[in-house]
Parts: sequence; C-alpha cells; structure tokens
Amino acid sequence: MNIATTAAQIGLERETRTGAVTVPIYQTATFRHPGLGQSTGYDYSRSGNPTRQALEEGMARLEGGSRGFAYASGMAAITSLMFLFERGDHLVVTEDLYGGSYRLFEKLFQQFGLSFSYVDTSDVELVRQAIRPNTRALFVESLTNPLLKVADVAALAALCKEKGMLCIVDNTFLTPYLVRCLDLGADITVYSGSKYLSGHNDTVCGLVAVKDAALAEKVYFHQNGAGAVLGPQDSWLTIRGIKTLTIRMERQQENALALALWLKEHPGVGRVYYPGLPEHPGHDLMQRQCTGFGAMIAFEVARPELVERLLMKTRLISFAESLGGVESLITFPKVQTHADIEPETLQRLGINDLLLRLSVGIEDKDDLIADLAQAFA
Ligand SMILES: *Cc1c(COP(=O)(O)O)cnc(C)c1O
Repeated sequence: MNIATTAAQIGLERETRTGAVTVPIYQTATFRHPGLGQSTGYDYSRSGNPTRQALEEGMARLEGGSRGFAYASGMAAITSLMFLFERGDHLVVTEDLYGGSYRLFEKLFQQFGLSFSYVDTSDVELVRQAIRPNTRALFVESLTNPLLKVADVAALAALCKEKGMLCIVDNTFLTPYLVRCLDLGADITVYSGSKYLSGHNDTVCGLVAVKDAALAEKVYFHQNGAGAVLGPQDSWLTIRGIKTLTIRMERQQENALALALWLKEHPGVGRVYYPGLPEHPGHDLMQRQCTGFGAMIAFEVARPELVERLLMKTRLISFAESLGGVESLITFPKVQTHADIEPETLQRLGINDLLLRLSVGIEDKDDLIADLAQAFA
C-alpha cells in the first residue's frame, strides 16, 4: 500500500466493541484481569496502552519495521535507545546534531562511560575513519539541522553492517513519507514526533521503529523499564496528526521551494541552504534517495542587524523553536536551538550570527513571501 493510505488509516482497526472509527483514548492506568494468571493483553499503561499501541503499530507499518514505540518526547526516545549500550562503548554521531541530542550525549551519557565522536555524516569516508574497535553504533541525522546536510543512508547502513555496528537514523526532518530508512538498511529510526509527524505544534512526542524483532524486544524492555512512555491523549493527537502527514508535507515542500527561490534573489540574503535547490551539495543524493526535499530552509542574512528585524517584524511567521507544524516558524539557531554546542564548532559549521532557520508551514506561499518582504523592508 502507498504510504499515504497507511498514514490516513492509522489507528482505524482497533475498536471492535462499538465500531468507533477513530481509536478511543484509553485514559486508564490499569486493566482488570479476567482471571487468575490471565490478562486481556493489557495490564498497566506503562507496559502497554491500546491508544499508544495503535500509534506504535501504525509507526511500524509506516516504516516497514517489526515494531514501533512511542515515548514522552524525542529526547526520551533517544535516551531509551542509549540503554542498548554499555560502559566503554563508542558511537559515531552527526556533527551538526540537534542541540538537545548533543547535550544528552555529552552532558548525560558520558558520565556512564559512553563516548561519542562527531563527524560530517554526509561524507561516508569520514564516518569510516571515525570507527574504532569499540564503536557500537552510528547515530546519524538523515537531514541535518540547521545546515541541511544529507546522509547517504544506504551507504552508511552498509558500512555499519560491515563493521557489526547498529545504524540508528534520526529521520525527524524527512519522515517515512520522504524516506524509509529501514528499507535502506538502517536498524532503528527515531523521531521527534513533536515535529512533522504530529504536525500541528501541539504535542511533544518521540517515536522509534525497529527493523529486527529481537532488537525490538530489547527496545521494548528498555521502554517499559525506563518508563518514559507517551500518554494516551498525546498518542491520540499524534495519530490524528499522522493521518494528514503526506498532504501537509506536499504543501510544505511546495511552499519551501518557492520561499527558497525567492530568498535567493533577495538583496538582504546571502547563502540559502535548501536541498531542493540544484546547487545544494546534497541535491542529487536526495533526488535518488528520497521522494522530496522537505520543508526546512536555512539562510544567511546579509548583515547581522537583519536577524533581529526578521525575527521581530515577521507577522505570519512566528519566532519560535520547533519545526514541522502547519504554522511557519523562524528561529536563530546559534542562540535558540544550538546554544549547547561549543562556539568553535558552531563557527566551523557555519552556524553563525547571520544564520536563520525557517520551518515552512502550509499557509499560502504568496502570503509567506509577502510577510518576509515586509519584514526586510
Ligand atoms: C526536536 C528534535 C529532537 C528532540 O525531540 P523532542 O520531541 O523535542 O524531545 C531530536 N532530534 C531532532 C532532529 C529534532 O528536531
């Protein structure tokens, strides 16, 4: 089935008692046992809740994985995946990583004896060179934040297989609609479902899909053991969001291309990073690997004082963190999303005093362009 169908029908099949078309919100902590030593399949909502399960099974179908898992946030999902590793293990990680993931690795998991090397994962050779005898996994963002570097997931997954490492892909910026990383050989995909999957800037959630059933069993053990599960209300909101993922993404991409082309011509703008532009270094790879280019744009303004002007004077586009929702947002990565990364690294990567990031929503593209134009003026 086409992913648009799978997405639209998520959560549809579960309720048999009343035939409710949408999955009910099972707002319950616990479940009555039918007899001694018997279970309905549900015992306690941390271990399993029907609303969450509808989302988790839907995620597994969207990704082509054996199981899906839903967590209280994207960071909770990534935290839970770190329990796959033990003291002394080393991971190779994307260098222009989501700031929260960097903070989690450096400030929280280092103290438990994990170590991390940060490399440009758009270059498979650099990843190969960073692998050590104790490297257990690659943690890669398929499309990076904010500079939109593209990872060759198939090549990286093959390298991981060759080295006996797990390949974990943070596919938040692309979603299974634009690329199915498990099909390309990755072992695990992880998402901040707070972004495109729930899609309305109204829910914080994390999602994971696992290819192999034995690995999925371990991930389940950690999900239940650590307990950072997604509640039934937020599971329901995420299901509701995923139903429209494909049409939202189509519209957002169309808008993003229009905005990127407009920005490129504007005298107040320097570099424009959008992989849908043919001159973007990841354009050809993305054309091969993905079904679209996503809806995130980064761009440099011509002068530092334009940063504050754009953040303050845009009326439709809100100055806010996060991304992927129906409403367009603008942010200043150096200060807002990447403040935890070392200043030298930021400078080297190009996350500087001129760089702004746009998450393009589903509004009318001419209205968005007019909003940017009046802010520049
Ligand atoms: C937002 C984000 C996260 C963290 O997810 P939360 O839901 O905010 O905890 C992780 N990775 C990427 C790429 C993100 O954009």
